[in-house]
Amino acid sequence: MIASEKNQPITINGVTVQPGEQQIIDLPVGKLYTHTDLNIPLQVICGRKTGPTLFISAAIHGDELNGVEIVRRLIKSSVLKRLRGTLIVVPVVNIFGIIQHSRYLPDRRDLNRSFPGSKRGSLTARLAHIFLTEIVRKCDYGIDLHTGAIHRSNLPQVRANLDDPETKQLAEAFSVPVILNSNLRDGSLRQAAAEHNVKVLLYEAGEALRFDEMSIRAGVRGILSAMRVLEMLPPKKPSHKKPLEPFIARSSSWERAPESGVLRAVASLGARVNKGDLLGVISDPSDLFDQQEYEIRAQYAGLVIGKSNIPLVNEGDALFHIARFEDIQEAAASVEAFQNRSENPPNPIFDDQTFI
Ligand SMILES: [Zn+2]
Repeated sequence: MIASEKNQPITINGVTVQPGEQQIIDLPVGKLYTHTDLNIPLQVICGRKTGPTLFISAAIHGDELNGVEIVRRLIKSSVLKRLRGTLIVVPVVNIFGIIQHSRYLPDRRDLNRSFPGSKRGSLTARLAHIFLTEIVRKCDYGIDLHTGAIHRSNLPQVRANLDDPETKQLAEAFSVPVILNSNLRDGSLRQAAAEHNVKVLLYEAGEALRFDEMSIRAGVRGILSAMRVLEMLPPKKPSHKKPLEPFIARSSSWERAPESGVLRAVASLGARVNKGDLLGVISDPSDLFDQQEYEIRAQYAGLVIGKSNIPLVNEGDALFHIARFEDIQEAAASVEAFQNRSENPPNPIFDDQTFI
């Protein structure tokens, strides 16, 4: 090995991890009022050889759990023995929220609207500041794992700033059928990271407070393929399987409830819809005998990439998220191939690596 190929050690919260080492670090973020210390647990894998530094973060919204399982499976992956560069995995960033099964922190703020945060700001601002200073700013790249909100599912999708060619390349490598070009939101982790030249992808899949096997498997697979593009992992052996083609949505918007009532959803997640297609019907439960019903019809042709799962709706509630594409037929074929590929989980204990 030539000297310049050797990786650099990394120090987090005063703990230094040397090349070839792996370490669990507790990052202190304060105390509960019960005098219980709170830490963000994280794991650092410092490869022997030089390469980028990448963080994987989950549960920035404390009720979004798919990422917690994605991280667990990623860490068990034997291919990490051949890691170049440094991987930092943070299975639960919002350690306050996960205790309460909540998206937010106890001060009711949203962590993903509170970056860059500050040392002396609100509880949420302090957590944002610690995470940004101790983790994000030490990295070149990041992948932030999310799910839909409570009672809402997202079809596996990547959101990223596609105006940046390298971020676009990573988003395409993630191997999910749908990519959204998402502008940086004020106060988000992605925006704060971009200001420090750290490129971040956001993976959105499944529903809050639930595990969704398809979303979890696609997440593990996506992270590993992004790491291959970054040359943090060796290239995959050639396979005769056709690689999944991602499609960038032209735009997307939610179809909202025209009235309050009880929803019967017709369109399923991943479905292709034409303009005017029936998405669902709302009826008023106090008006059973009149049978007054309100139809929700697609205003555009597209794919259903997000949907509400609760039949109880208030007028104005976002019910069906429709993404529009240049070539809807090709995009729909890619979603179908993805869903077929993800059927039949290989192993009930969820540690089978053959799908990777
Ligand atoms: Zn989220």
